[in-house]
Amino acid sequence: MVTAAKVGELWCQRDSHARTLDTTVVSCEPSAGGAGTFDVVLADSVIFPTGGGQPNDIGTIGGVAVLDARRAGMQCVHVVAAPLEVGASVTVEVDWERRRDHMQQHSGQHILSAIAQNEFGLNTISWSLGKQLCCIEIPAAEPKQDVLDKLEARVNEVIRGHHDVTIDTRDHDESDRPEKLPGDIQEGIVRFISMGNIDRNPCCGTHVKNVAEVQCIKLLHTERVRGGNTRIFFVAGDRVFKLMQASLLRERQLTALMSTGPENFVDRVEGFKRNIKDLMKTTKKQTKELKDLAAAAAAAGVAVAGASGGDAGQGGGKGKGGSANGGKPGSGSSSIDSSKAGRGSRAPAAAAGPDSPASAAGSPAAAEAESQPASVRE
Ligand SMILES: [Zn+2]
Repeated sequence: MVTAAKVGELWCQRDSHARTLDTTVVSCEPSAGGAGTFDVVLADSVIFPTGGGQPNDIGTIGGVAVLDARRAGMQCVHVVAAPLEVGASVTVEVDWERRRDHMQQHSGQHILSAIAQNEFGLNTISWSLGKQLCCIEIPAAEPKQDVLDKLEARVNEVIRGHHDVTIDTRDHDESDRPEKLPGDIQEGIVRFISMGNIDRNPCCGTHVKNVAEVQCIKLLHTERVRGGNTRIFFVAGDRVFKLMQASLLRERQLTALMSTGPENFVDRVEGFKRNIKDLMKTTKKQTKELKDLAAAAAAAGVAVAGASGGDAGQGGGKGKGGSANGGKPGSGSSSIDSSKAGRGSRAPAAAAGPDSPASAAGSPAAAEAESQPASVRE
């Protein structure tokens, strides 16, 4: 009877660079919950289940997609898209790009946490490997930029140091269990990962074989979190280059949009902000003037309507008011300005109505015109 290798001794944990493995299907059951997938256990695997802060691998078993992998007790359970025959010989293959990325981030975190603690007194209490960014959380206020710069420089110096990453194991000992070991693990082996003499930590994850494989680490920004803790965000390895490529692309787009080089972006944007502020001020002033004129035109329209039987005010926006000027000083120019304002701010149209002259200044349309200077510029 074929048995399954225990988590801790999986092939991917013994040789993190193995991409394929010929093995045997030990069991295959429909996944719980009627998801239409199948839970498969193999005699051994190069697919790592979620653990140690490292997300699971994906890949294929005999050409069938592995959608997820998780630890259940001491077994690695592969969630696959189609059933596999128990006892069948299969080749399992890991999605290497994803695994390599995970190893760079995870191993990079070991180095970052070790240097932060040993040389800067910043203890890592948790970490996260996200799809885009990673972070470590420290129980301290946000470090100053010069501290972060020195930390980043030291971490990259260690990476350039080309230290071997080694694994040693011992049998599980309940009287000496590592602090971070999941509570349900009470057997098997405990793995310790060493990076030269920089770091030694119990960890179940997959790691690079030499710290140089991490290539580099870039610290990004910090974020205060509850309890006075701070998260320090970072990326390692290929993610650094991807992030830089995305930044360069945005920089090229901005260069074209602003017609100036990156060294002038800040000055140019500050100029834009000043111009917008001035324009807003001018627009607000002109909108108020238009509103006052509209109110005056409306008032004039009401007066004329009262004298002519109520139809003269209808021409307020179209110049008909000219016939109703009736010798009232200024009412002619008011009707012309009202017409202009009506096309721009939309407020005077309401103001010109004979039934609601008082609504000019306080009408919703007038208020909208005031709060939306862009419409005046149209
Ligand atoms: Zn680790």
